[in-house]
Amino acid sequence: MMSIQLFSPTFRIEECLAEIRECLEKGWTGLGFKTVEFEDRWKAYTGFENAHFLNSATVGLSLAFKILKMENKWVDGDEVISTPLTFVSSNHAIVYEGLNVVFADVDEYLCLDPLNIEKKITTKTKAVLFVGMGGNVGQYEKIVQLCKRYNLKLVLDAAHMSGTRLNGEIPGKEADAVVYSFQAVKNLPTADSGMICFKEKKHDEICRKLSWLGINKDTYSRTTDKGAYKWKYDVEYVGYKYHGNSIMAGIALVQLKYLDQDNAYRRQLAKWYDDGFNNVKDRIKTVAVADGCESSSHLYVIEVNNRDQLLLALNESDIFPGVHYRDNTEYKMYAYAQNTCPNAHRLSDRILSLPLHLKMTKHDVCYICQQVIKYCN
Ligand SMILES: *Cc1c(COP(=O)(O)O)cnc(C)c1O
Repeated sequence: MMSIQLFSPTFRIEECLAEIRECLEKGWTGLGFKTVEFEDRWKAYTGFENAHFLNSATVGLSLAFKILKMENKWVDGDEVISTPLTFVSSNHAIVYEGLNVVFADVDEYLCLDPLNIEKKITTKTKAVLFVGMGGNVGQYEKIVQLCKRYNLKLVLDAAHMSGTRLNGEIPGKEADAVVYSFQAVKNLPTADSGMICFKEKKHDEICRKLSWLGINKDTYSRTTDKGAYKWKYDVEYVGYKYHGNSIMAGIALVQLKYLDQDNAYRRQLAKWYDDGFNNVKDRIKTVAVADGCESSSHLYVIEVNNRDQLLLALNESDIFPGVHYRDNTEYKMYAYAQNTCPNAHRLSDRILSLPLHLKMTKHDVCYICQQVIKYCN
């Protein structure tokens, strides 16, 4: 039997190459052209009013906090409540902007628990960063209400949520910014890219400048402008080189076409796992998907007593799971918050993400279930 990896992205190679060929033939691989087309398609798909294509979700999160800080006159040391169970990029983005990460605990969906967030609110709290773990919305709607009640901004780290729906809609319309990742192993994989969707047009406009060195007009609109003064742009900010390019956007355009179909198969794989573990619930806990949520099923996470031992045993059987995530307060960088989130801390040693990707079959899932059950105690 071949080994089964945690993630293995699928590309419709001929279609991706056709998109890339178009860029190469046109001689336009950078900002503009396909990036504009993908932004338009993403807005049509999600229903968001604004979408700006970037080179990663990490820079998107960083820009979200930079712009919200700037526009709302937050000061260094103001606080953002975030989760300890995430890829460290989420929390670094807060720190980049001189803000402090205050950790709140997670619930049974491995997402931020609104009750615990409320306990962590201080006079310095300005925003909440919510991560839709594995594509799950968790208690997102309650957190929207909480943010309204306490007048807090809300940023949605939707790195796992491409195509996730809540009651039939793409969630996030209430958030001040929603950030997607199209990194190599996410459920809408390119090689590296991301998208930021601001609620306010004004923020989107600032973001477009900041993502390209602070320049107030992008190359594409300059070359499509008539007139001889194309070079005469202004620079309004000390911006960054964060925007996406047409090669990545070309791949993303193909991936988006298949996103719903691919996510449906991911949910089928998750269902097969659920069925496989149905009779061993005393030993193997699975993470439920929240009511009304049609998850992208980026991850399939189980909770067990002997995680590290199980992981090694599965490796022996050529199955390569992962861990999403280690409690961030265990990292030196965030150690100041150790012991503030007991749930996340406990789960950090007990959770395991099983392989989930489009090349897998029902047979693979059954084999993995069988091996997990065999080595789990
Ligand atoms: C992958 C990931 C990111 C970062 O995405 P990049 O596009 O790689 O920068 C942020 N948050 C979460 C939860 C992620 O899984």
